[in-house]
Amino acid sequence: MKLSIIVPCYNEEEALPYYFAAMEKLRPQLPLSFEYIFVNDGSRDGTLLYLRQLAVQNPETVHYVSFSRNFGKEAGLYAGLQRATGDYVTIMDADLQDPPELLLEMYRKIQDPEIDCVGTRRVTRAGEPPIRSFFARAFYRLMNRIGQTPIVDGARDYRLMTRQMVDAILELTEYNRFSKGLFSWVGFRTEYLEYENVQRVAGQTSWNFWKLFSYSIDGIVNFSDAPLNIASFVGAASCLGALIALIVIVIRTLAYGDPTTGWPSMVSILLLVGGTQLLCLGIIGKYIGKIFLETKKRPQYIVREDERLYARQHAATQVPQDEPAATKETPTKPTLDQK
Ligand code: UDP
Ligand code: MG
Repeated sequence: MKLSIIVPCYNEEEALPYYFAAMEKLRPQLPLSFEYIFVNDGSRDGTLLYLRQLAVQNPETVHYVSFSRNFGKEAGLYAGLQRATGDYVTIMDADLQDPPELLLEMYRKIQDPEIDCVGTRRVTRAGEPPIRSFFARAFYRLMNRIGQTPIVDGARDYRLMTRQMVDAILELTEYNRFSKGLFSWVGFRTEYLEYENVQRVAGQTSWNFWKLFSYSIDGIVNFSDAPLNIASFVGAASCLGALIALIVIVIRTLAYGDPTTGWPSMVSILLLVGGTQLLCLGIIGKYIGKIFLETKKRPQYIVREDERLYARQHAATQVPQDEPAATKETPTKPTLDQK
């Protein structure tokens, strides 16, 4: 049986050696052959150099694919899943925040024929900025309330899946990918292992607050139409309110001949209504934007290099080492006779 290990890497040159060493240490403990698929997501440091070297040193087990630019972790996961050939597939971060030892327990659990996937879930968020934890919790609460696809709080992308589940995920070819939702949407039986948060071994996180914020908005838009329903509801409610106010004003004017006073309240109402309209338009726009991207049918990622391409190009440009020196043409200074 073969295990494919997908590792998305973005500027991970510092963490990768630790990661690979930890995994190789674990390898003898699992009755599986390994297939690493590193996805270099347009890193700007020495990640690609390291991966090339690793692939040359371990031609049997290490594969990599390198993108032409940064396409994001979701695209990286998709590329990895497409290339995975194992009977089991796991997804791991390169920074050792997904403890390799857990694989032993995950493998033990997935032997149960009733289980198709063993996921992992962080029960603590120690070491994370409190504001990030707060918003993360709020996101999961909101998502599970308004979305049709349940998403487990603290669930990581780190999971061990059977071939059937991976094939099901690969059938979802949408452009806007939100893997946490896709894993849940395809169904199958998933069991979660809980663990305490682990700090990144080296390097830096590439997610800042705004990136995470827009990621969570993507999650909501991709897996819920509740914002559209809310927009319709707010529109309907404000129409009803306006109608009631209109009737009250007309009756009051007829009964008391009250001149309409209070333009500040009028301005406030105008702003409120205008603001609500813009907000609802924005929500609709978000969905239309997704449709726009989806209809363009652009690829999720563009490959610049993988280990086979590199080996071929490299072989073509390399001067053969075993060529006898005498046959090499060495430019000599023209002698007087030759002139
Ligand atoms: N990653 C990626 N592309 C990106 C950003 C991140 O492939 O554009 C990878 C990164 O190399 C790491 C994983 O996704 O292996 C998780 O990223 P990170 O550790 O920065 O996120 P955090 O653990 O802080 O959420
Ligand atoms: Mg990390």
